[in-house]
Amino acid sequence: MSNIIKKEEYPYAFDTSACSTCEGRCCTGESGYIYVTKNEILAIAEVLEMDVNEFALKYLFKKGYKYSIKENKINDSYECVFYDRESNGCKIYNARPNQCKTFPFWDYYKTRVDELNLECPGIIDD
Ligand code: SF4
Repeated sequence: MSNIIKKEEYPYAFDTSACSTCEGRCCTGESGYIYVTKNEILAIAEVLEMDVNEFALKYLFKKGYKYSIKENKINDSYECVFYDRESNGCKIYNARPNQCKTFPFWDYYKTRVDELNLECPGIIDD
């Protein structure tokens, strides 16, 4: 089965096999927002077997009218609290937010492929 994902309207393809050697650049590095919807919050709290309010207090912060997952600052890197350096993976992978599932196919990157190339070694330019 091919590791290459191509989506209409995006001027690049994505080779998922790059993830195993990349050390989570999409979950670390510059600070950013990892938005979660209400349903995603419920799903993640369930996976972690936590009370929703307890989960929100510990792992989320409010940005405008949305919620985002907190980050840990490690040296110069801002890392999602659910990024696991040891396994180079996501601790809540099966319940990760849609924002994470859809990376690198974000509208933002349609016109910023150079920026995306710096972020993700799996990008194949058209
Ligand atoms: S939730 Fe998981 S996939 Fe999303 S940024 Fe955090 S570690 Fe990465």
